[in-house]
Amino acid sequence: MNVFIEPIGKLINEFTKLPGVGAKTAQRYAYKVINMSEEEAAEFAESILNAKKKVRYCKICGNFTDKDVCDICSVRDSSVICVVKEPKDVLAMEKAHEFNGVYHVLHGTISPMDGIGPNDIRIKELLSRVSGKTVKEVIMATNPDVEGEATAMYISSLLKPLGIKVSRLAHGIPMGSELEYADEVTISRALIDRKEI
Ligand SMILES: [Zn+2]
Repeated sequence: MNVFIEPIGKLINEFTKLPGVGAKTAQRYAYKVINMSEEEAAEFAESILNAKKKVRYCKICGNFTDKDVCDICSVRDSSVICVVKEPKDVLAMEKAHEFNGVYHVLHGTISPMDGIGPNDIRIKELLSRVSGKTVKEVIMATNPDVEGEATAMYISSLLKPLGIKVSRLAHGIPMGSELEYADEVTISRALIDRKEI
Protein backbone atom coordinates (compact mmCIF):
# COMPACT_ATOMS: atom_id res chain seq x y z
CA MET A 1 0.00 0.00 0.00
CA ASN A 2 1.23 3.45 -0.88
CA VAL A 3 1.78 5.66 2.18
CA PHE A 4 0.53 8.71 0.29
CA ILE A 5 -3.04 9.27 -0.79
CA GLU A 6 -3.26 9.45 -4.59
CA PRO A 7 -3.36 13.26 -5.17
CA ILE A 8 -0.34 13.83 -2.91
CA GLY A 9 1.52 10.89 -4.38
CA LYS A 10 1.00 12.31 -7.87
CA LEU A 11 2.23 15.76 -6.82
CA ILE A 12 5.34 14.25 -5.22
CA ASN A 13 5.96 12.31 -8.41
CA GLU A 14 5.77 15.53 -10.47
CA PHE A 15 8.33 17.27 -8.25
CA THR A 16 10.79 14.38 -8.56
CA LYS A 17 10.95 15.16 -12.29
CA LEU A 18 12.84 18.36 -11.47
CA PRO A 19 16.66 18.27 -11.50
CA GLY A 20 18.22 17.80 -8.08
CA VAL A 21 14.93 16.96 -6.39
CA GLY A 22 14.94 13.63 -4.61
CA ALA A 23 12.06 11.86 -2.85
CA LYS A 24 12.50 13.71 0.46
CA THR A 25 12.59 17.17 -1.10
CA ALA A 26 9.66 16.30 -3.38
CA GLN A 27 7.60 15.38 -0.31
CA ARG A 28 8.47 18.68 1.36
CA TYR A 29 7.47 20.60 -1.77
CA ALA A 30 4.21 18.67 -2.06
CA TYR A 31 3.25 19.34 1.56
CA LYS A 32 4.13 23.01 1.08
CA VAL A 33 1.78 23.19 -1.90
CA ILE A 34 -1.01 21.47 0.03
CA ASN A 35 -0.64 24.10 2.75
CA MET A 36 -0.91 26.98 0.26
CA SER A 37 -4.08 29.00 0.00
CA GLU A 38 -6.27 28.34 -3.04
CA GLU A 39 -4.97 31.61 -4.61
CA GLU A 40 -1.31 30.83 -4.01
CA ALA A 41 -1.69 27.37 -5.48
CA ALA A 42 -3.49 28.77 -8.52
CA GLU A 43 -0.75 31.36 -9.04
CA PHE A 44 1.91 28.65 -8.77
CA ALA A 45 0.22 26.41 -11.33
CA GLU A 46 -0.57 29.37 -13.58
CA SER A 47 3.10 30.49 -13.61
CA ILE A 48 4.15 27.11 -14.95
CA LEU A 49 1.57 27.15 -17.73
CA ASN A 50 2.21 30.79 -18.52
CA ALA A 51 5.98 30.30 -18.84
CA LYS A 52 5.39 27.28 -21.02
CA LYS A 53 3.03 29.25 -23.26
CA LYS A 54 5.04 32.49 -23.58
CA VAL A 55 8.66 31.39 -23.60
CA ARG A 56 10.09 30.58 -27.00
CA TYR A 57 13.43 30.73 -28.77
CA CYS A 58 14.88 34.02 -30.02
CA LYS A 59 14.83 33.78 -33.80
CA ILE A 60 18.39 35.10 -34.00
CA CYS A 61 20.35 33.50 -31.14
CA GLY A 62 18.13 30.61 -30.02
CA ASN A 63 18.05 31.71 -26.38
CA PHE A 64 14.80 31.81 -24.40
CA THR A 65 12.71 34.94 -24.89
CA ASP A 66 9.10 36.07 -24.74
CA LYS A 67 9.56 38.23 -27.87
CA ASP A 68 10.59 37.48 -31.46
CA VAL A 69 14.09 38.80 -30.81
CA CYS A 70 15.58 38.68 -27.30
CA ASP A 71 16.76 41.72 -25.33
CA ILE A 72 20.43 40.77 -25.77
CA CYS A 73 20.19 40.51 -29.58
CA SER A 74 18.22 43.78 -29.69
CA VAL A 75 20.77 46.02 -28.01
CA ARG A 76 24.21 44.45 -27.81
CA ASP A 77 27.33 44.48 -30.01
CA SER A 78 26.56 41.93 -32.70
CA SER A 79 30.13 41.83 -34.07
CA VAL A 80 31.22 39.41 -31.32
CA ILE A 81 29.27 36.17 -30.99
CA CYS A 82 29.69 33.77 -28.08
CA VAL A 83 28.66 30.21 -28.99
CA VAL A 84 27.20 28.08 -26.16
CA LYS A 85 25.53 24.71 -25.89
CA GLU A 86 22.31 25.57 -24.05
CA PRO A 87 20.23 28.54 -22.86
CA LYS A 88 21.40 27.99 -19.26
CA ASP A 89 24.97 28.67 -20.43
CA VAL A 90 23.93 32.17 -21.52
CA LEU A 91 22.84 32.75 -17.96
CA ALA A 92 26.19 31.49 -16.63
CA MET A 93 28.09 33.83 -18.99
CA GLU A 94 25.87 36.80 -18.18
CA LYS A 95 26.47 36.37 -14.45
CA ALA A 96 30.18 36.97 -15.06
CA HIS A 97 29.37 40.50 -16.36
CA GLU A 98 32.36 40.41 -18.68
CA PHE A 99 30.82 39.89 -22.11
CA ASN A 100 29.09 42.59 -24.10
CA GLY A 101 28.49 40.78 -27.37
CA VAL A 102 25.66 38.49 -28.46
CA TYR A 103 25.16 34.74 -28.16
CA HIS A 104 24.43 31.78 -30.36
CA VAL A 105 22.82 28.80 -28.64
CA LEU A 106 23.54 25.51 -30.41
CA HIS A 107 20.98 23.44 -28.49
CA GLY A 108 23.42 20.56 -28.21
CA THR A 109 26.94 19.54 -29.13
CA ILE A 110 28.20 17.12 -31.73
CA SER A 111 28.23 13.64 -30.22
CA PRO A 112 28.57 10.74 -32.68
CA MET A 113 28.07 8.26 -29.80
CA ASP A 114 24.58 9.68 -29.24
CA GLY A 115 23.92 10.03 -32.96
CA ILE A 116 24.09 13.84 -32.84
CA GLY A 117 25.80 15.21 -35.94
CA PRO A 118 26.51 18.77 -37.15
CA ASN A 119 23.08 18.98 -38.80
CA ASP A 120 21.27 18.24 -35.54
CA ILE A 121 22.43 21.41 -33.80
CA ARG A 122 22.16 25.07 -34.86
CA ILE A 123 25.39 25.27 -36.87
CA LYS A 124 23.87 26.30 -40.20
CA GLU A 125 21.98 29.07 -38.39
CA LEU A 126 25.35 30.30 -37.10
CA LEU A 127 26.82 30.22 -40.60
CA SER A 128 23.95 32.21 -42.05
CA ARG A 129 24.29 34.67 -39.17
CA VAL A 130 27.93 35.39 -39.94
CA SER A 131 27.66 35.47 -43.71
CA GLY A 132 27.54 38.94 -45.16
CA LYS A 133 27.74 40.60 -41.73
CA THR A 134 30.67 42.21 -40.00
CA VAL A 135 31.48 39.63 -37.37
CA LYS A 136 34.90 40.31 -35.85
CA GLU A 137 35.11 37.32 -33.55
CA VAL A 138 33.31 34.14 -32.60
CA ILE A 139 34.08 32.88 -29.10
CA MET A 140 33.53 29.16 -28.60
CA ALA A 141 32.18 28.68 -25.08
CA THR A 142 30.99 25.10 -25.36
CA ASN A 143 31.72 22.96 -22.30
CA PRO A 144 35.33 21.79 -21.81
CA ASP A 145 34.44 18.13 -22.39
CA VAL A 146 35.08 15.85 -25.38
CA GLU A 147 31.89 16.86 -27.23
CA GLY A 148 32.35 20.55 -26.45
CA GLU A 149 35.93 20.55 -27.70
CA ALA A 150 35.05 18.61 -30.86
CA THR A 151 32.17 20.98 -31.60
CA ALA A 152 34.40 24.03 -31.07
CA MET A 153 37.02 22.63 -33.46
CA TYR A 154 34.43 21.71 -36.07
CA ILE A 155 32.80 25.13 -36.05
CA SER A 156 36.20 26.80 -36.10
CA SER A 157 37.09 24.84 -39.25
CA LEU A 158 33.98 26.26 -40.94
CA LEU A 159 34.44 29.85 -39.83
CA LYS A 160 38.15 30.39 -40.32
CA PRO A 161 38.02 30.07 -44.13
CA LEU A 162 35.51 32.94 -44.02
CA GLY A 163 38.17 35.13 -42.41
CA ILE A 164 36.51 35.22 -39.00
CA LYS A 165 38.64 35.14 -35.87
CA VAL A 166 37.62 32.19 -33.70
CA SER A 167 38.66 31.90 -30.07
CA ARG A 168 38.08 29.43 -27.27
CA LEU A 169 37.49 30.16 -23.60
CA ALA A 170 40.75 29.67 -21.71
CA HIS A 171 41.10 26.69 -19.42
CA GLY A 172 40.37 27.28 -15.80
CA ILE A 173 36.95 25.85 -16.24
CA PRO A 174 37.86 22.27 -15.24
CA MET A 175 38.05 19.78 -18.10
CA GLY A 176 34.98 17.58 -18.28
CA SER A 177 32.82 20.02 -16.34
CA GLU A 178 29.98 22.27 -17.41
CA LEU A 179 29.90 26.00 -17.83
CA GLU A 180 26.84 26.39 -15.63
CA TYR A 181 28.73 25.12 -12.57
CA ALA A 182 31.71 27.44 -12.98
CA ASP A 183 31.73 30.51 -10.75
CA GLU A 184 31.60 34.04 -12.15
CA VAL A 185 35.27 34.81 -11.54
CA THR A 186 36.37 31.64 -13.33
CA ILE A 187 34.13 32.39 -16.32
CA SER A 188 35.23 35.98 -16.45
CA ARG A 189 38.93 34.97 -16.39
CA ALA A 190 38.39 32.25 -18.99
CA LEU A 191 36.79 34.86 -21.24
CA ILE A 192 39.55 37.45 -20.78
CA ASP A 193 42.28 34.83 -21.36
CA ARG A 194 40.57 33.26 -24.39
CA LYS A 195 42.88 31.90 -27.08
CA GLU A 196 42.52 32.04 -30.81
CA ILE A 197 42.00 28.58 -32.30
ZN1 LIG B 1 18.60 36.56 -29.19
